[in-house]
Amino acid sequence: MKSVDTHLAEILATVRTLAPLELELERTLGTTLAEDIVSPVALPPFDNSAMDGYAVRAEDVAGAPVTLPVIDDVAAGSDELRAIGPGHTVRIMTGAPLPAGADAVVPVEWTDGGTANVTINRPVPLNNAIRRSGEDVQAGDVVLRAGTHIGAAQLGIIAGVGRRRVWVRPRPRVVVLSTGAELVEPGAKLGPGQIWDSNSFTLTAAVREAGGDGFRAGTVADDPAVFLDHLDAQLVRADAIITSGGVSMGAYEPVKEALSPLGTVRFEKVAMQPGMPQGFGVVGEDQVPIFTLPGNPVSSYVSFMLFVRPALRKMRGLPAGPPETVTAHVIGPLRSPDGKRSYLRGVLADDGTVAPVHGQGSHQLAALASANCLIVVPESVTEVPSGASVQVIRL
Ligand code: AMP
Ligand code: MG
Repeated sequence: MKSVDTHLAEILATVRTLAPLELELERTLGTTLAEDIVSPVALPPFDNSAMDGYAVRAEDVAGAPVTLPVIDDVAAGSDELRAIGPGHTVRIMTGAPLPAGADAVVPVEWTDGGTANVTINRPVPLNNAIRRSGEDVQAGDVVLRAGTHIGAAQLGIIAGVGRRRVWVRPRPRVVVLSTGAELVEPGAKLGPGQIWDSNSFTLTAAVREAGGDGFRAGTVADDPAVFLDHLDAQLVRADAIITSGGVSMGAYEPVKEALSPLGTVRFEKVAMQPGMPQGFGVVGEDQVPIFTLPGNPVSSYVSFMLFVRPALRKMRGLPAGPPETVTAHVIGPLRSPDGKRSYLRGVLADDGTVAPVHGQGSHQLAALASANCLIVVPESVTEVPSGASVQVIRL
């Protein structure tokens, strides 16, 4: 049997980082920057007030309380400014440019708020409440490096330096297709022998959580020809394909039957539990990566976390490798099959303990939904005593 690490290494060696695109800023959330972002100007671009108050010469209010004339009123966006002479003040708002001659801003709270004259009740330190030009960014500074994940704040600074279009690696478009003659759409009535399709929902959502754009292409029954037709129709819009079901050892395994003859997808046993039957390869002219995951709901989700998620990171231009683990102390003994790496569903607590959930079957989706981590038991270990330290993957 192939090891989990070998399977992941082969996947990461095959998938390619997506080519950069120039996108409108509004569309870049969740993408990865493919260029350095340089600010053409200093930020702030001009000295301005950090508060609503009065621009003054600090030395003029050293003997506060003092009453001084207010010679002008400047709001944010003002461009006609009168310089402040000795003994003068200007009423100023947050973000408004600082008039020449002023060297401090007195917050309105320290004054009587006058508009013709103002009484200032206490002295003000030099430079008080002034935001100096270039305090945040100097002209020519790199504010974000290529390879940065664009979240809300990163998108904000790109706008803040005046850019409207940027080169990014897009979110991978991933089509999710589930197979099984027993599957019906949630919302429809269950007939005898039928179950509601959950995998296509789980996997599409998992793609989105992993920074991709997941498209649920619905379910197909266990007919290899129909499966191939569906796959063909979806290939044009996919950077990757995920299927669930139809890759085990039984009869009616449409994914395996349809793709084996192509010779570009390998179906193998990976030494893990759950999720032993795995397939991976490429399909179509564009060699689109395809992950054919087993149908059991827990198996397909665990397989996604171990193999697809790292692959999506690579496609996004981010560092990619096995999922990160943390050390925890297990409550209760664990069992694991010899020669397979187990990923038991558990609940990791704040005190660093982890307890396996009740219901470790690969069909037990409700148990998975109550877990927040996977407890990893290495291939050579068959029993873990209560209290032992274990590695845990947070979900
Ligand atoms: P398979 O891998 O197709 O042999 O399916 C293994 C098990 O997973 C069977 O019990 C299936 O009914 C179940 N299963 C397969 N696909 C799905 C799905 N999309 N949603 C929920 N259960 C599924
Ligand atoms: Mg099936």
